[in-house]
Amino acid sequence: MKACLLRAAAPIETHPLECAEIEPPSPAKGEVLVRVHCCGVCRTDLHVVEGDLPPKKSPVIPGHQVVGVVERLGEDARRFLPGDRVGIAWLHHADGTCRYCQIGAENLCDNPSFTGYTVDGGYAELIVAPEEFVYPIPRAFADEQAAPLLCAGIIGFRSLRLSGIGPGGRLGFYGFGAAAHVAIQVARHWNVKVYASTRDERHQRLARELGAEWAGGTFDAPPEKLDAAIVFAPAGEIVPAALAALCKGGTLVLGGIHMSPIPSFSYDLLWGERRILSVANNTRRDGEDFLAVAAEIPIQTRVQIFPLAEANRALNALKNDAIEGAAVLRVAQPAPVAVPRP
Ligand SMILES: [Zn+2]
Ligand SMILES: [Zn+2]
Repeated sequence: MKACLLRAAAPIETHPLECAEIEPPSPAKGEVLVRVHCCGVCRTDLHVVEGDLPPKKSPVIPGHQVVGVVERLGEDARRFLPGDRVGIAWLHHADGTCRYCQIGAENLCDNPSFTGYTVDGGYAELIVAPEEFVYPIPRAFADEQAAPLLCAGIIGFRSLRLSGIGPGGRLGFYGFGAAAHVAIQVARHWNVKVYASTRDERHQRLARELGAEWAGGTFDAPPEKLDAAIVFAPAGEIVPAALAALCKGGTLVLGGIHMSPIPSFSYDLLWGERRILSVANNTRRDGEDFLAVAAEIPIQTRVQIFPLAEANRALNALKNDAIEGAAVLRVAQPAPVAVPRP
């Protein structure tokens, strides 16, 4: 099968992903083999490729927003049938036995595996995954539209939940890439007012088009104090600015897996029972709940399609803020467009 391999982490400008022909994987007990139609490109992939996250497997195939169809079942796998359309996300497996899994916090599992990082991901024609960690994809979405929902969407949704925001609330977004462009649609559906701070003017325009009350530069103060804010950009210097925009009791959620160092700041910014929390991975429940809400709205993702062989170019564009919405790699020929249910 064709796959994009990362042998050693390096800056994306040096094109570290190599397209190669390799042996396809075979599904182990309880796993499904999935023929990949497309795979979303996430900033976490860039962190893996450039070595911001410590390498766990070499070579590794990145990609954790996989949409495809079940091709073959491993022993004892019976949740899906061959031909079923499914999605594979970041949480590849959790042990189910550690103290975190036992309290329903499998996102914090002590022995997890992650798609496209600790195990091979979806920048390839075929992928295997445990059937219990695979999602049915709602019919409302075409393949390319569904791919960004599987990480950008799910993590944005978990961030929204952790922010504690509710109807009529004022919510800040810092950075307006793939996750924010999906999360704003959920926030608007919940009747939340969104204030978008991002350095890129095209991203500010997209935020306004998607219903933001206000869009401005990263360090411009929003016109009103915020009940909560989510930092999607991986830049630690945003944290003090975002705290300064919060009302008393406000929550600041950090949505990324990696962030540059956070500069020191005055305790006054935190005083008043403001709090900061990170979002670590996702539970299957987050994914299932989000996909149901996404189909109900229905979420419209804006995607920029690249062929699998141009994964380096797609990641480079992401690094340079040149993607409006989400980048998606097309791996197989376009599947017939899904017909939404009447
Ligand atoms: Zn666990
Ligand atoms: Zn991701």
